[in-house]
Amino acid sequence: MSETLTIALSKGRIYEETMPLLAHAGIVPKDDPETSRKLILDTNHDDVKLVIIRATDVPTYVQYGAADIGVAGKDVLLEHGGEGLYEPLDLEIAKCKLMTAGPVGAKEPEGRLRIATKFVNCARRYYAEQGKQVEVIKLYGSMELAPLVGLADFIIDVVDTGNTLKANGLEPLEHIADISSRLVVNKASMKMKHARVKKLIDQIAEAVNNRK
Ligand code: AMP
Repeated sequence: MSETLTIALSKGRIYEETMPLLAHAGIVPKDDPETSRKLILDTNHDDVKLVIIRATDVPTYVQYGAADIGVAGKDVLLEHGGEGLYEPLDLEIAKCKLMTAGPVGAKEPEGRLRIATKFVNCARRYYAEQGKQVEVIKLYGSMELAPLVGLADFIIDVVDTGNTLKANGLEPLEHIADISSRLVVNKASMKMKHARVKKLIDQIAEAVNNRK
């Protein structure tokens, strides 16, 4: 048996939308992470395992080589910084936009803006590029609440339909980046397991293209 190839995925949308792509590459998990509590899933190949982790942890597992390959949203990758990773393929799933948002019709206040977000690195980078002084407040969820209760002037969040913003009296403002899920590969694995990794990337790329 050859050395194990470990693929890191998060539960939910990324897992569900990645499964058909892996199936095209002949990889089928033996358990369903939605019903199983296992964090390591065996597959129909003895030498291919899936690890099921939080979306924001995927780049870290792949960076340190605990997983050879992973699937992560571009928002998560922008926030992580991408160190130690190759990003060879856009899977074109879980598409949305990273945007600033604020109360409908709100004017930008004088002085230092307060920005609430879980994407603190993205926020600092974005406003630094514009030469704007901001105070970035780290939140872990429900960013929409922050402007409503005076915690922040604006938020930075991922937006799909915009319904969540609208339901809270907010509107999308500035577009920061288009987001979709990407295949990421540990740099050492790309060298050491090149043939297997390359084959898997090619098969997944074919599945992505077939869907078009
Ligand atoms: P929306 O359709 O804009 O109301 O999106 C609802 C919520 O789902 C947003 O506030 C986001 O937090 C989240 N969301 C939407 N699309 C994505 C995505 N592709 N990846 C991660 N989170 C998402």
